Amino acid sequence: MKKKLILASRNRGKIDEIKTMLDGLPLELLSLNDFPELPAVEEDEDTFAGNARKKAETIALACGCAALADDSGLEVECLNGRPGVYSARFAGPQAGDAENNRYLLSLMRGVPPEKRSATFRCVIALALPEGKTYLVEGSCRGRIAEELRGDSGFGYDPLFIVEPSGLTFAQMGPDEKNKISHRARALRKLRALLENLFATGPNLFQSTAEKNGKA
Ligand code: IMP
Repeated sequence: MKKKLILASRNRGKIDEIKTMLDGLPLELLSLNDFPELPAVEEDEDTFAGNARKKAETIALACGCAALADDSGLEVECLNGRPGVYSARFAGPQAGDAENNRYLLSLMRGVPPEKRSATFRCVIALALPEGKTYLVEGSCRGRIAEELRGDSGFGYDPLFIVEPSGLTFAQMGPDEKNKISHRARALRKLRALLENLFATGPNLFQSTAEKNGKA
């Protein structure tokens, strides 16, 4: 029987992307949609690593299985790294993508192109049932556009320009974005880490129930 790995997310887009990147590994990838009784974990740490670690460790403990969680966001240089961990709620607690983008543009009005550098970051935490947690990180450098461009993707995609194409993530479409994005880079490292850990000992992924002879 395949070892279980639980992704601490209910976001379908994210789950599908991670499943695709981890395809072919000897693991059954489940998500919080398979465990409706588990509550959402609050993202109240002040670093991406802190939030990813907290989510993965909470779910690994609750389920007794290996768990994965990611946290990501945008750091803008001339705003001293903001919005960072507050990317999803930059313009306020109820803000959606359109309001966040509008707010970012308003803060950057008049900033010249050479001072509009920004970095997308993604940290993924893998928490194993016996208590050890691993972190991998991916980043993608770009700059903030002066107006929205393109309709694909989500979040700050219409404002994030990547060289050499000069296109925003929203103008690229998913295939191009997923070759170079912060999340894709972190997921490639995660895949290598999982392959390595499996080669060392598949028992690292044994659930608490299996260990106690209850599965
Ligand atoms: P989370 O990692 O799902 O909590 O995402 C945090 C927030 O960062 C999202 O709501 C977006 O605003 C932003 N973000 C993270 N990754 C991306 C991306 O690939 N494109 C655009 N926005 C992103």
